[in-house]
Amino acid sequence: MQQTEVRALAQLLNRHRGRTAVFTGAGISTESGIPDFRSPGTGLWSHIDPMEYLSVDALYARPQTFWRYFDQVFGPTLDAEPNAGHIALATLEQSGYVHTIITQNIDGLHQKAEAQNVLEVHGHLRTVHCRSCGRTYPMQQALEQLPKEPVPRCEQCGKTVRPDVVLFGDMMPHAFSQALQAVERSQLVLVVGSSLTVSPANTLAFQAPHLAIVNRDPTLADRRADVVLYGTAGEALTAVVEELAIGHQ
Ligand code: NAD
Repeated sequence: MQQTEVRALAQLLNRHRGRTAVFTGAGISTESGIPDFRSPGTGLWSHIDPMEYLSVDALYARPQTFWRYFDQVFGPTLDAEPNAGHIALATLEQSGYVHTIITQNIDGLHQKAEAQNVLEVHGHLRTVHCRSCGRTYPMQQALEQLPKEPVPRCEQCGKTVRPDVVLFGDMMPHAFSQALQAVERSQLVLVVGSSLTVSPANTLAFQAPHLAIVNRDPTLADRRADVVLYGTAGEALTAVVEELAIGHQ
């Protein structure tokens, strides 16, 4: 662990205590066994083009293929547990360092780690809704239909349902404008586990005067950051929490 950078990030968090927003990406959840998009070999992008499978076009034009892929990739995520990185961020929030955790992730692991103020800018895996009558169901209930049905359907009206995640081609949800407001009233944005390549979510990282990055690999924004801490999110954030001498409350 780069002790100098750990100390520098802890100092930055101290300086901007209560005026810091966190922005997380798929990298924070790889230690919970969920593959990210762009890690070589293990990232989803190494096997398929998510743009082709996880798009509004795919849902409408090839619903059966869409749901088969969706179930295969995200079904196991429903049982995932938060890791040390999620727990460290919840600790930073509970101790007043961080006011909002903005996430691109759909896995719900920040909430499972008991973070309170979480904005999910790409939606979540908890529910699906009927495209006709709007009724909402738990995702688990929709996926359980799949062995028997080619696509999950609304129990009320029989029409097809869709996941409450933001697909390629969807509009950004209300949470995105809330996230924009949250970063605009911040002094520091701490990015964790994101390649910062997915637009427009990545623009959230650059709306505050100060930027810090915790990531395993370099990102295109490293040169713009006050502090860059290379490492795995769990180890790096735990070290920062220890440096600040706070524990999970
Ligand atoms: P990305 O795959 O583009 O980048 C992930 C980054 O995290 C990489 O730069 C990688 O070096 C880094 N990383 C991987 N493991 C790490 C670890 N243990 N500690 C620290 N860094 C680590 O991810 P992105 O920028 O979030 O963009 C991908 C999009 O895919 C997002 O929009 C997200 O919604 C979606 N997605 C979400 C999940 C999820 O919910 N867990 C999983 C896959 C993809």
